[in-house]
Amino acid sequence: MVTEAKVKAVEGYEKTLERWLGNVTKEDVKKVLEMVGKIDKLPYPRLVKLYLDLCSYCGACAEECHIYKTYPKKEFNPAYRTSLLRSVYLRHFTLIGKTFRGLIGAKELDEKMLQEWFIRFYQCTMCRRCGVFCPFGVDNMALVRTGRVFISAALGKTTLDMGRGVDSHLSLGNASFMKEAVFKHTVKFWEEEIKEKKGWEVKVPIDKIGAEMYLIPPNTDFFHSLETMEGITAMFHAAKADWTMSSKIFDVVNYGVFYDDDVWEKIINMHIEEAKRLKCKILVVGECGHALKSLMMLGPSLLGAFPFKVKSVLEVTADYIKQGKIKLNKEANPEPVTYHDPCNAARMCGIIEEPRIILKVVCKDFREMVPNRDRNYCCGGGGGVVLETASHDYRVEVAGKMKVDQIKQTGAKIVATICANCKVELDHLITYHKLDVRWAGVHDLVLNALML
Ligand code: SF4
Ligand code: SF4
Repeated sequence: MVTEAKVKAVEGYEKTLERWLGNVTKEDVKKVLEMVGKIDKLPYPRLVKLYLDLCSYCGACAEECHIYKTYPKKEFNPAYRTSLLRSVYLRHFTLIGKTFRGLIGAKELDEKMLQEWFIRFYQCTMCRRCGVFCPFGVDNMALVRTGRVFISAALGKTTLDMGRGVDSHLSLGNASFMKEAVFKHTVKFWEEEIKEKKGWEVKVPIDKIGAEMYLIPPNTDFFHSLETMEGITAMFHAAKADWTMSSKIFDVVNYGVFYDDDVWEKIINMHIEEAKRLKCKILVVGECGHALKSLMMLGPSLLGAFPFKVKSVLEVTADYIKQGKIKLNKEANPEPVTYHDPCNAARMCGIIEEPRIILKVVCKDFREMVPNRDRNYCCGGGGGVVLETASHDYRVEVAGKMKVDQIKQTGAKIVATICANCKVELDHLITYHKLDVRWAGVHDLVLNALML
């Protein structure tokens, strides 16, 4: 049901997005059109053009979008977003569009349309669920990203906190304005926490050249989910792993994934160069969904093979369990636990069974959410939407509503996940909807269950 609160939340976020884009001039429109004209210079032009051609407006995707299902207005239909890009491309860059215009839905890009682009493209959480169900395989997420890329490349515009995170990343090497001294202090703190909780003397290796694994977590975990870092560290200790972190590049997030190819490439190059400097064999991505997509999928496809492997920490832990390298006691986590599949980890990177292998041995009562795996619903914070404080009401009232219902249906007391952004969104959903549940990283539960 579309309640007053939902209407208010949507309208509020739309007004904020409009403000962030600012006053749109004819010159802005011209610049964006120039970028659309350079569609063949995108790293994946054929796919984008194919998707623009293929959509038949059958509507099958709409029923699979958590936003449209919660708030069924025309503008939230995935195919509507696609049509915004397609109509402009047809009108300005194809003969048929220039000739027949309205007859085939070709539309001019003007100031109003550009505003609508910005709003619609940043309301989508880029979860790609609609793409899984499209009979023609149209990936609306890729088109939404392409629209964001055009605007960013032409006008340098994105949402507020995402832009701030990128500024921080390009100047300091991490998205949270964190200095090396603060990082080292935080490491000491979590080492002490492990000593207190487990009685183990554990040291995090830093800048160890030639270590087998170089771990880069999302640095949001340093202040929002430190137990995840403690769990990973304790697990490496128990498995006698040869690993290191870096004092310079200790943050794996890459917001360029959400909106800008140049930003993405600059940041991923920081990760690649640091892995080379450390001479690691495996770059291990911590509990982070979009960074997995960046380093596992986009990086090797767009930049060529790396001289090291990339793994999710979930794969490492699941392998340790299979090889009997770590001992775990599921009695340490007696409460019912469910698992939220982050869209980027599950749908984009296939990290689906590993968290389940782990949760089944560290928890006494593991319950699946329905639907799950690559059919899961987005938490409501994907696509960088959760980074914005101003999107809070939109996320908790609309984009995350289906996730709330899913969690309730499991009867679980803990919802575990493996993505820093999902953790923030789950935190907001649980608080706002007063759920009798708490969120956790998978390695938070590993920490409880680990034995030496
Ligand atoms: S399901 Fe595919 S073809 Fe049908 S409207 Fe959606 S994107 Fe277009
Ligand atoms: S990518 Fe996700 S949020 Fe965006 S239109 Fe598709 S299902 Fe909806």
